[in-house]
Amino acid sequence: MLDWSESAASARQMHRSRAAAPLLASDPPGLGSIDRHGGRVSADEKRMINCRADVNQLLPLKYKWAWEKYLAACNNHWMPTEVSMQSDIALWKSRDGLIEEERRAIKRNLGFFAASESLVANNIVLAIYRHLTNPECRQYLLRQAFEEAVHTHTFQYIVESLGLDEGELFNMYREVPSITDKAAWAIKHTQHLDDPDFKTGTPAADQAFLRDLVAFYVIFEGMWFYTGFAQILSLGRRNKMVGIAEQYQYILRDESIHLNFGIDVINQIKIENPHLWTPEFQEQALNMIREATELEIRYAHDTMPRGVLGLNAGMFNEYMKFIANRRCAQIGLKQLYPGAENPFPWMSEVMDLKKEKNFFETRVTEYQTGGALSWD
Ligand code: MN
Ligand code: FE
Repeated sequence: MLDWSESAASARQMHRSRAAAPLLASDPPGLGSIDRHGGRVSADEKRMINCRADVNQLLPLKYKWAWEKYLAACNNHWMPTEVSMQSDIALWKSRDGLIEEERRAIKRNLGFFAASESLVANNIVLAIYRHLTNPECRQYLLRQAFEEAVHTHTFQYIVESLGLDEGELFNMYREVPSITDKAAWAIKHTQHLDDPDFKTGTPAADQAFLRDLVAFYVIFEGMWFYTGFAQILSLGRRNKMVGIAEQYQYILRDESIHLNFGIDVINQIKIENPHLWTPEFQEQALNMIREATELEIRYAHDTMPRGVLGLNAGMFNEYMKFIANRRCAQIGLKQLYPGAENPFPWMSEVMDLKKEKNFFETRVTEYQTGGALSWD
């Protein structure tokens, strides 16, 4: 039985301590005292960062791409519990359905994602939302934050269905060094922006904000998730763990919109603030992508040291370099690994859920109520 009176009391307490923090002149208008005589917001006053126009006025829209992604995301709504886990449970519990290396790769994969969805959600809520001063972008961020909750729910549902050790899975980001290295690399950016003293408005601070966007949208969601997608979807193509594979398809569909939203945000900030995109900053961003590629290659070796599922670490080395090049191009950086080729051409087919051919023969196409996967 929930004790409502206690939670209401603690909510009141939280409200009081929140109200005690004064608003600063540098905060965007919309949360301080209401300006009763101010003019109406026009679209051209809107800015991605450091905006002085009221953040409570969604309309008139300025950034239609942000609103369109919000609509596409809503059209892609799904819940993990709608996917049947019966055949996954049977396969996981059978003695010879999966080899030991496959089990290791699956568990590490689930362990990486289980914590990563939370890291991404925390970064949105604690770091990005505060500093992105535009209502249509915030509308999308609210939807994205919910999707990250759905993704975390997916891993809870998988743990429960398969009877996995929840402590083992949800602690992998602390206990498995190749996963910890990635989490530690990313979380620095959230910590920096979550600092109550951090404010955008100087070139150095605005560049720190851009670095967070590159770290989470381009690298975390845009590169590091793709090893995991390829591993699990490859299993699905072999008719193994088809429930998880179907859930990963939905996650991939969501993530490709997250990624493309992040790319649009970065590119729009560049248009409005060209002074931030210095040669030094570009070099920093390239270094981040290079480091991230190396961390991912180490992670791929660790998850499948001897190669499984017809995949091996060498393929992931090539795949990560191919993806890194693509991400560089999307934000206007030079390619880091010229000539890298895609060893998994079938991934682009898997990503196009509108294709009538559906190799899982499940309900994927019925979920698509609109929107599309034309984002990558
Ligand atoms: Mn996610
Ligand atoms: Fe995401």
